[in-house]
Amino acid sequence: MPTYIVLLGPPGAGKGTQAGILSEKFKLPHISSGDIFRENIRNNTEMGKIAQTFISKGELVPDDVTVAMIRDRFKRPDCVRGAILDGFPRTPPQADSLAEMLREFGGKVDLVPFITAPAEALIERLAGRWSCKECGHAFHSKFNPPKTPGHCDFDQSALYQRDDDKPDTVKHRIDVYQQQTAPLIDYYKKGGILTEVNGFGSIEEVATLMNSIMCVE
Ligand code: ADP
Ligand code: ADP
Repeated sequence: MPTYIVLLGPPGAGKGTQAGILSEKFKLPHISSGDIFRENIRNNTEMGKIAQTFISKGELVPDDVTVAMIRDRFKRPDCVRGAILDGFPRTPPQADSLAEMLREFGGKVDLVPFITAPAEALIERLAGRWSCKECGHAFHSKFNPPKTPGHCDFDQSALYQRDDDKPDTVKHRIDVYQQQTAPLIDYYKKGGILTEVNGFGSIEEVATLMNSIMCVE
């Protein structure tokens, strides 16, 4: 039976960072909807052009575009054992579509770690986030600096600061999260699969908490 873990939490909570650690540990693909959108924007695809108009304003990309993209990603063979989902779903209709897609593969969402952190921490984390142009891995100028300044530890590519990590866009993204994504907390609570994780510690401390709630093999 495949294993699907959905990481939930506001922008900057540490979803991508923890997803990377879980992906290594469980040898499951890390599927980041934001990374796939950014790859499409870089490659100037039709979907990338649509996504860019929303992402630059800190708005969500429409559900139909997002769901079609994830459906496509699930077709790749590395998903047969499951996946760590980071940033998808972000609305209740997306969560319904996910449940439907996973039923087709004989799976379901097994666990939803909900990572929390205070708003000031989110803003500080995103203001100092430096992302790899190639692999999307996120570093932080203060909390998680790369070994060589300006370069990714994993593929040595250049690091950059995302346009949507500017403080004004971040504040709007946190509002959008509260309005459109936070309803997923109750959605998954009702399913009995949501576990809250205090994300306001060091990356290692949060990883230890994540470990303690994993009951997948
Ligand atoms: P999200 O995917 O939820 O937006 P990220 O994993 O990209 O969040 O983390 C946002 C920024 O904060 C990154 O620069 C990352 O290095 C840093 N970060 C992640 N987890 C922590 C943590 N527990 N403490 C301090 N900084 C963190
Ligand atoms: P963060 O790391 O801060 O959580 P992401 O990289 O996940 O941000 O997402 C960046 C942007 O991409 C979002 O602000 C939104 O515009 C778009 N996006 C990502 N995932 C989704 C989704 N599931 N539905 C709609 N838009 C999305």
